[in-house]
Order: sequence, then structure tokens, then C-alpha cells
Amino acid sequence: MTAELKMLIGGELVEGDATLDVVNPATAKTFVTVARASEAQAAKAIAAAKKAQPAWAALSREQRQGYLNKLADAIDANADKLARTLTQEQGKPLPEAQAEIAYTTIFLRYFGGMELPVEVAQDDADLRVEVHYKPLGVVVGIAPWNFPVLIAMNKVGPALTLGNTIVIKPAPTTPAATLMVGELAASILPPGVLNIVVDQNDLGGFLTSHPDVNKVSFTGSTVTGKKVAASAASTLKRLTLELGGNDAGVVLDDVDVKKTAQGVMASAFMNAGQVCIALKRLYVPSKIYDEMCDELATLAEETSYGDGLQQGVKVGPLQNAQQFEKAKKFLEDAKRDGKIIAGGAAGDGDGYFIKPTIVRDIKEGSPLVDEEQFAPILPVIQYDDIDDVIARANDTNMGLGGSVWSSSIDRAYEYAKRVDSGTVWINHHTHFAPHIPFGGAKESGIGVEFSAHGLSEYAQKAVISINKH
Ligand code: NAD
Repeated sequence: MTAELKMLIGGELVEGDATLDVVNPATAKTFVTVARASEAQAAKAIAAAKKAQPAWAALSREQRQGYLNKLADAIDANADKLARTLTQEQGKPLPEAQAEIAYTTIFLRYFGGMELPVEVAQDDADLRVEVHYKPLGVVVGIAPWNFPVLIAMNKVGPALTLGNTIVIKPAPTTPAATLMVGELAASILPPGVLNIVVDQNDLGGFLTSHPDVNKVSFTGSTVTGKKVAASAASTLKRLTLELGGNDAGVVLDDVDVKKTAQGVMASAFMNAGQVCIALKRLYVPSKIYDEMCDELATLAEETSYGDGLQQGVKVGPLQNAQQFEKAKKFLEDAKRDGKIIAGGAAGDGDGYFIKPTIVRDIKEGSPLVDEEQFAPILPVIQYDDIDDVIARANDTNMGLGGSVWSSSIDRAYEYAKRVDSGTVWINHHTHFAPHIPFGGAKESGIGVEFSAHGLSEYAQKAVISINKH
């Protein structure tokens, strides 16, 4: 069978040794068939990246920036087509898909303009000691299915800027738009600098243990992240792991309830709740608990769900059948452990729809509170003591993000400092940008992405020490 979308290996757009059907989660039907790699093809991609790396690293930083800008231009010029494909494969509403593509080029251009100049650690009568940031070599970038294009390109940008080459592997349920970016890249980048291979969850181990791979940048679940760490250990590859989260939002008793409820909804229901840094459990003081629950329930009932290509839809389907089954299980737990005050059921149609759901009178101990739901189902938990609630927010092996909401920034700030996570937002949640370091505490990850901190994870720090005598 011929694939409608091909992989990019060594500068060529190639058929796979197999094919993979990509399902539109709004219809539960295949909408495109793409090329799928064998292990031999994955090995070819790594070999091509290895061969291309020295010449790529030998270019000037400005030349590499020029290539990344051209790729960003091509993505912008094809943004409509890419966004529609993204909605069809991922499920997110078209405006969210358009935003993902727009962010992708903003980030690519930003990374292309970054550099890590030589630092002078010491320069005196005796010694001159310099710190150089050298490329690591071949990077493998593994992406999840929630922001397929943005996350993949956020590995391509920093890797290529510093003179590394890369092999990208999208998630098996969302390879299509990424392969379309590969089609664009084929006529822009030198052969082998960017390679894209598709698997069916069967090439991760091969890619992350291959001796010619120097770094793995992985974004996905904590369970898989641990497998990646184990696999990369055999050759001590450099690792960046961006993993799961169970972000708590802590509301203080002085908030404007309506305004806060809107801020909470914007985070918790973005991409149908399938965002690593979505607000996933909300703690509200008893004094305003009923009012906040009622407000959230009203907003959830007003939130339209459906096929992301339909105008006005705010919550699309869950991305895949497995996630849909998990979400239905969370609804069962919620019925048993709490009280559903909005939504609470699968949606109409053949797609993987869950109605925007608010659950109140629920506590820790219920899977919906303790685990990452990755669904449009928000538990709202009552509290009386603020110190106790900060301890409860922190009582998890996750630590990606968190937020504190208050009319007093000073008051919120004091509590924000006590939340154990990579990011704490005050009066918002889920904001990120290429100049702000992003990463998880505890089992939410190792290392950071973005900013000079993130960029330096794609470099070997190499010291040159000169004896002046
Ligand atoms: P997943 O871990 O199931 O899959 C992620 C990727 O890993 C996919 O490409 C998959 O094919 C690949 N994979 C599977 N087995 C592998 C193996 N043994 N070795 C290497 N790779 C392997 O995650 P998912 O379900 O696609 O994504 C959802 C998860 O990702 C959530 O937990 C979410 O919080 C997390 N996430 C984190 C961030 C972040 O930046 N921290 C961003 C987005 C998503």
C-alpha cells in the first residue's frame, strides 16, 4: 500500500517498509495513511544524521539561522493546510491548531537567533580558561500526541541551532502534520540534518539505545520517560525528559470568583485537558466553594464540544481511543467519589468526545485527583487551611506546574514560593514562551527546555585552559 505522506530520511522523502493508518478522533475513522519505518530505516535515519552533522556544525551560526528561518517561512506559507491536518489527526479546535502552527514558527525563529558564546571563566596573569558550547552530535527527539508539531519543532530548533543533527519520531497517532513539515524541510535543509521516522510505538527502544545517538530529548508520559532513561543509560546519552504533570491550582479566599473561574477554565479545558501544564485539580476555600463550583459548572455547560473543524467548538475529542477509555474510567471514579455538576458523560457521535465536566465534593484518594486525567474533567476540592492545602498540592510525585490565585499578588507570592514545581503561575496557568526555562520537578522531568538553560542541554560544555607561563 502506498503512503499518502512519506518520511524524511537523508534528505529523501521515502515510503516506509510498512504503513500506518491515522485516525481522526472526531470520527473514529482513518483519514490518512502514512509511511511507517522498519528498524533498518530508523538506522538509516541515524546514519544520515551522523554523516550530515560535521558539515552542518561547520556552518556559521548565521547560516544555520538562515536555514531555520526558511523552514519557518515555509511552515507559515502552508499554515492553513497544516492546521487543518493537525485538527484532523489531533482533534483540537481549528483555532488552537492554527495557534500551535503559529507558535511553532515563533519558537523556531527564536531558537535560530540564539547562541551560546564562549564564556571566560578566568583570565589573569596565570591562566585563561574558556568554556565552549560544542554540539553533541546526533539528537533523537521523541514527541507525544498532544502538541505534535510544536513539541517536535521545539527539539529541532535548539538542536540544529547549535550544530547538532536530529531524528524526530512523532507519536504513532499524530504523525501527519509533522510529516508535512518534513516534506517542506526536504527542499530546504541539507540532507540528513533533519530526519523524521514514524513507528507504531515499537522503535523507541531502538532509537534511544543506539550507540550513534548522543542525546535524547523526550516529551511524553512519566512511565515511558523512565524506560527512555533506562534505555539511554547503556551509553550514558545526554537526556532531557519532559514528562507528565498533575498541576494543582490553589485559590485563595479573596479572589474575584467569576474572573478566576474563567482563568481556570482557559487552562483546564485547553486541548480537551490534554496539556502537560493544564490545571488538573483545583483547591478552593470553603468560604467561596459553592460559588466557585456553580460558576465553573455554568461555564462548562456553556462550553461547546465537537469536531474541531466545526466553527465555535471549544473542546474537541480526546486524541485516541485509549485516552478516551481512560477518561470514561475517570468519570466512573468521579461518580463514585464526588458529585458531577456539569457534563459527566461521553458526548454524542462516533468520535472520542467527553462533555466538559466539573466534579465537586471529591478528595485525594480518588484517581481523578491523584492521577493525571488528560481529559476535560476538572475536580474541585474544598479546603479550610491554607498551609494544609499547600502540603496537599505538593503531596504527589509530579511537579510540572502549579498556580496560586488571589487579589493580592504579595499574598499569592508567599504561597507560590512553597509550591514544588518547575513553574508556578500567579493568577494564570499554562503560559510558556521560548525565553522562559520550562521543566519539571520530581518525576515530571529531568532538565529544562527553552531559554539559554534549555539550549545548553544540546551542548557539550568544553573547557580550554591556557597556561600563560
Ligand atoms: P507516551 O509516553 O505514551 O508517548 C510519548 C512518545 O514516546 C510517543 O512518541 C511514543 O511512541 C514514544 N514511546 C513509546 N514507548 C517508548 C519507548 N519505550 N521508548 C521511547 N519512546 C517511546 O506519552 P503520550 O501519551 O504520547 O503523551 C501524553 C503524556 O505526555 C502526558 O503524560 C503528558 O503530561 C506528557 N507531556 C509532557 C510535556 C512536557 O513538556 N512536560 C508536554 C506534553 C506532554
